[in-house]
Amino acid sequence: MTATSPAAADDGIRNVIIIGSGPAGYTAALYTARANLKPLLFGSSIFVGGSLTTTTEVENFPGFPEGVDGPVLMDSMRTQAERFGAEMLDDDVVEVDLTGSVKTVTDSAGTVHRAKTVIIATGSGYRKLGLPKEDTLSGRGVSWCATCDGFFFRDRDIVVVGGGDTAMEEATFLTRFARSVTIVHRRSTLRASQVMQNRAFSDDKISFAFDSEIAELHEENSMLSGLTLRDTFEGSTRKVDATGLFIAIGHDPRTELFTGQLELDAEGYLKVDAPSTRTNIPGVFGAGDVVDHTYRQAITAAGSGCAAALDAERYLAGLA
Ligand code: FAD
Repeated sequence: MTATSPAAADDGIRNVIIIGSGPAGYTAALYTARANLKPLLFGSSIFVGGSLTTTTEVENFPGFPEGVDGPVLMDSMRTQAERFGAEMLDDDVVEVDLTGSVKTVTDSAGTVHRAKTVIIATGSGYRKLGLPKEDTLSGRGVSWCATCDGFFFRDRDIVVVGGGDTAMEEATFLTRFARSVTIVHRRSTLRASQVMQNRAFSDDKISFAFDSEIAELHEENSMLSGLTLRDTFEGSTRKVDATGLFIAIGHDPRTELFTGQLELDAEGYLKVDAPSTRTNIPGVFGAGDVVDHTYRQAITAAGSGCAAALDAERYLAGLA
């Protein structure tokens, strides 16, 4: 099958610029490339391939019955989009002007790129505790996603850090696998909604360590072997023999670049006119975790990248 372009670039103004090289950005690149829109994708200078490049086994991306290595999956997505002519620049976008009918995107060298549409797929970052060993033990007992990794923690003693809905949800989900789950929270009361709290309080496998924070992570054979909790009032410490730690203290959507131009919600996520991916500015679309509070999975990010590509394609067809 061949595709024809409704609005091919011929005057230095591109049809589509995509910002972000995770599953959302690469899928948007694949679809817009196959629609002959000759997309240009900015994939960041230091974090090409997005969040999945920080993990090893991905067992829940359809099409891989034996699972797939995160970086391998992301390389394959990139190669697939390039096969149809998507252009990739491993560089950061440092400035955007999205307001006019021609949008401008400035790279780190100061070069200004122009396009009729922009797809924003910049993702979000998990908040970290800021402890030594936190990064090196990621994927080795330390995780930020129970849906992604819970399955690997059968019959283990697990600690979940956080006091909001996400922490309660992660803890409750993890009881399907874990021997025990301890929720560690800095304060004496939880922020989570009453219904989520009740669910956690009534679960026999869940216990609570209030007024506590994690002081240190312990490691044995490059795996998490336990952690030290510190009482936030007295400063006293105690060791906990957990071999799993799930950090559920929030996410930061990468939207600083767009502040003042695009509508963001109270938590800084990009607002779109769901179920479409349209933002408040015509020709600008949002996809993946930068929009999504709820699901935050590779497959949902890829799905919304596809939707953004189709929305951009229709918008461009309307201009022709
Ligand atoms: P991301 O993958 O975060 O990609 C966004 C990209 O945009 C990044 O490369 C970023 O650097 C880039 N970017 C941001 N700003 C700019 C800019 N100004 N200029 C250029 N580039 C920019 N999900 C699963 O489904 N299964 C799993 O097993 C799983 N495991 C995970 C394990 C870990 C350790 C982590 C961190 C996440 C995991 N996830 C998993 C979640 C999954 O990775 C995310 O839901 C998914 O990657 C979101 O895709 P995205 O395209 O929206 O954003």
